[in-house]
Amino acid sequence: MAQSRVAIVTGAARGIGAAVAKRLAKDGFAVGVVDLTEDNCKETVAAITEAGGTALAVGADVSNAEQVAAAVNKVADRLGAPTVLVNNAGILRDNLLFKMSEDDWDLVMNVHLRGAFLMSREVQKHQTQENYGRIVNLSSTSALGNRGQANYSAAKAGMQGFTKTLAIELGKFGITANAIAPGFIETDMTAATAARVGVDFDQFKEGAAAAIPVRRVGQPEDVAAVASFLVSEEAGFVSGQVIYVAGGPQD
Ligand code: NAP
Repeated sequence: MAQSRVAIVTGAARGIGAAVAKRLAKDGFAVGVVDLTEDNCKETVAAITEAGGTALAVGADVSNAEQVAAAVNKVADRLGAPTVLVNNAGILRDNLLFKMSEDDWDLVMNVHLRGAFLMSREVQKHQTQENYGRIVNLSSTSALGNRGQANYSAAKAGMQGFTKTLAIELGKFGITANAIAPGFIETDMTAATAARVGVDFDQFKEGAAAAIPVRRVGQPEDVAAVASFLVSEEAGFVSGQVIYVAGGPQD
């Protein structure tokens, strides 16, 4: 049995992170809801507590080492040792290579890769002590290459290598690490992409759905269901895997 049922979900103010936080709370975890500001987390925390769960709002920029340490300490003090971590915080700064600025490159690398690194390094202190843990990292189908996303696809491919390495290093402590690579999920992130390319969001979703074998776009709950399995005790022999949640196979 796990010693502690405390989970941290980053970027949990909205979108996929909020759905994962709510699902893990429903599964019985006390959830540290981490996003850029404490205020942004309040809606997710309220939804969880109204449904009878336990959640704590924690403001932190995952790419800042000091803020990450303070955030994980706060969760450990208030909820107990975090044994589950979902590295979900993410941003887009899309542009074709010749127009991509160094800031756009660095920002995307920092939030996704440095963020997952700092959060995992901090949380594994508790997981190794508990001799139990589950880490889930959000990759993307963009890891396989996507026009206008040199920064994002490199970061999301990096998440897969990072995940496999954590699985190898941490397995002996009862810790698994897996990645979820979603395809098109209906969130503010995909809405922003539609706005950027000047297409109405409903039309954008219809176009995406037509190219997806199950003929629909994904919902945040589709990702949350897979996260729920990967962080469960019964998933203890699944580690270092990348699960595509994209309504069809990926190359
Ligand atoms: P979203 O709706 O844009 O939500 C992302 C959340 O992360 C926001 O609340 C954002 O806060 C937060 N965040 C950004 N930078 C942060 C930082 N430095 N520290 C802490 N929190 C930060 O995105 P989503 O669509 O739910 O995506 C969630 C994850 O899934 C991301 O890693 C994304 O790359 C991945 N993904 C999404 C899709 C998709 O189709 N939606 C597909 C594949 C993978 P602010 O609102 O304040 O910026």
